[in-house]
Amino acid sequence: MITDDITARLTDVRSRVAAAAERAGRSPSGITLVAVSKTFPDDHIRAAKQAGQLDFGESRPQALDARLEADPPLGVRWHFVGRLQRNKVDLVRGRATLIHSVDRMSLATAIAEPSAAEGRVQRVLIQVNISDDPAKGGFSPEETHHAVAAVREMPGISVQGLMTIPALDADPDQAFSRMRSLRDDLRRNFPEVLHLSMGMSADFESAIRNGATLIRVGTALFGPREE
Ligand SMILES: *Cc1c(COP(=O)(O)O)cnc(C)c1O
Repeated sequence: MITDDITARLTDVRSRVAAAAERAGRSPSGITLVAVSKTFPDDHIRAAKQAGQLDFGESRPQALDARLEADPPLGVRWHFVGRLQRNKVDLVRGRATLIHSVDRMSLATAIAEPSAAEGRVQRVLIQVNISDDPAKGGFSPEETHHAVAAVREMPGISVQGLMTIPALDADPDQAFSRMRSLRDDLRRNFPEVLHLSMGMSADFESAIRNGATLIRVGTALFGPREE
């Protein structure tokens, strides 16, 4: 039952991704669908995995930890997309393939220092508060160049790109287009700043049109959340 529903939704989202990519003259292979599984039980993740979904996202450190403790193991790749407190870094660091939400310098340091001490490199994105939303974390567009320049100098951390969540009342197309310009500018100096994590269930097609390489989709795959 759940398996059929999730398989059908996954097929639908994938075809919308492919269509949006084609309209933008892009290859769908350049867009990674991150299935944001927060609040849903593990069987939803197993169902999506069975339908070929490999990348999943969680927004709370404890939830990520619980997924990694699942028995039998879920055997999927994890992204961390939420607010991260410094005292919870060890639940995420070295366990998520990519931390999308480095939203302040003190967090970058808290990730980089222990990673470097272990001889690891944690891949991260720098979160940008593109619509200057007081409810959201992230560097302002003006601060972003400096933030990327500083974080990429830290051993133990590698800046792979930018992430954003536009304000609810912002025009997503405009926000995503500004993010693309910001990434393009940065990339001239820092070629590894490649990724753009943007677009959720309501706006991933607009994000793809504006160059998203990672889209974070929950509701459209798993149904409405009871939060
Ligand atoms: C929950 C969440 C998503 C997914 O949102 P949907 O609207 O359910 O697709 C994406 N990104 C972040 C950071 C989230 O917390």
